[in-house]
Amino acid sequence: MLELTVLGAAQEVTGSSYLLQNEDKKILIDFGMFQGQEEDWNYQPLGLNPQDVSALLLTHAHLDHSGRIPVLVKNGFRGPIFATPPTIELTKLLWEDTLKLMKEDKERTDRKRRRQDKPPVELLFNDDDADKASKLFVPVEWNNSEKFDNFNFTFRSSGHILGASSIDVYSQGIRVVFSGDLGPQETVLEPPPYAFDDADYVVIESTYGDRNHKNVKETRDEFRDALSAALRDKSKVLIPTFVVDRAQRIIYELYLLRDSMHELSGMPMYFDSPLGGRITSVYSSYPDYLLPHLADFFKGMDQQKLDLHYVDTAQESKELNELTHALIMAGSGMCTGGRILHHLKHGLWNPKNHVIFVGYQAIGTLGRSIIDGAKNVKIMGEDIAVRAQLHTINGFSSHADANDLITWAKNFPSTTSFVVTHGEPQPAKSLALSLNTLGYNSVVPSRRQTLALKGRKERAAIPAPETQSIGQKIDDFVAKYPQKRKLVEQVLSALLESLEQEA
Ligand SMILES: [Zn+2]
Ligand SMILES: [Zn+2]
Repeated sequence: MLELTVLGAAQEVTGSSYLLQNEDKKILIDFGMFQGQEEDWNYQPLGLNPQDVSALLLTHAHLDHSGRIPVLVKNGFRGPIFATPPTIELTKLLWEDTLKLMKEDKERTDRKRRRQDKPPVELLFNDDDADKASKLFVPVEWNNSEKFDNFNFTFRSSGHILGASSIDVYSQGIRVVFSGDLGPQETVLEPPPYAFDDADYVVIESTYGDRNHKNVKETRDEFRDALSAALRDKSKVLIPTFVVDRAQRIIYELYLLRDSMHELSGMPMYFDSPLGGRITSVYSSYPDYLLPHLADFFKGMDQQKLDLHYVDTAQESKELNELTHALIMAGSGMCTGGRILHHLKHGLWNPKNHVIFVGYQAIGTLGRSIIDGAKNVKIMGEDIAVRAQLHTINGFSSHADANDLITWAKNFPSTTSFVVTHGEPQPAKSLALSLNTLGYNSVVPSRRQTLALKGRKERAAIPAPETQSIGQKIDDFVAKYPQKRKLVEQVLSALLESLEQEA
């Protein structure tokens, strides 16, 4: 028997981590940071003794999957961390960047606390912890079978960001697939998600379990329209962007447009992010982890045809304020920090300028206030009028949408059970319901819930918790009255559609 404990990403998007235990060993899949409203959870007891864990399998570099690994090491974990080579490089860069931000934050907080006669705060982890963790990485390539302590595992492409993987783990006669974060079926930079044909259990992400994105063509048309407007005005274009994957995607989209939009060649472009430049060079270093024609693009100097400049120092960044006609990409993607703040402060008030949002803007972020129509926003302590022309493009997501998730899931046989994670309650439940409708068993676990996994022969249905009782009831109904299946499906799809409209 195997036991699966869901340590995070349970009815939430961040904090991904799963403990898998066979008769005598424990391994972890991911050990991510909790972000946003759940941030305080990073400081809670870990829920396990890191010294008892023999190894960690890391799906991809994003901090919500990798961010607390140094904390694990700080508390005594010394096992190998298996990951693909690009994941290893990207993760190290992200840890380094997080440490820098945490230290800056600590300095500010400590200054305030000193004035209140309070002791300094403790960092979540320090350089030494990150350094020790970096030395534990063991590279594994996609599609190679590996073995460690009675666990056999294979990493496969998940189509999400460079090196991102789904992981197939086999132990004691039971096969569990961890989806990791899944990309769309129609990927642009990375190979599409691997289509598995079997598993007893699948831990599946559900970030967009209840909605669909625009397709690649529609998204490209929207991007072109936004750029055309800006080029007509001969103005400044600001693009707040995530520096891992989204920025590289935008660079590629600009490259594709340059032949058909001649005005684009007269516009200087800047990627104002020291981290972003380093991440783009990791993309260039791993052609095998990209679609073949993308490998040529990132490796070759095709990018130079764009007149794209990587901006490194703060001084160079400030000099961009003087420009009136330029395209500037900078992090952070949701305008919660980073150099984009300077550019917004200097450009948002001017009705000639354009801001193109190419990523999701979470509630409570500056980016969200701007797209929600705020007339004024506070940026670095100053009131700034929002008068620039705004464009919101939602189709550049590196996550599967509801249709993509179902397409991926349908490769598994009907005997597979799904554990639905990495989604807010609504999308998670919606995906679980869709899976039930297809005849699969599914469960939406709560944080720290342990599931006993059984081999196919001895296994009955996973006991569904309260949240899934409707799905279970529908399942039972369909099992009892198979001739009513069509009717049930119609009712459910109408229901899903109305939920989607509501959302
Ligand atoms: Zn991710
Ligand atoms: Zn994630």
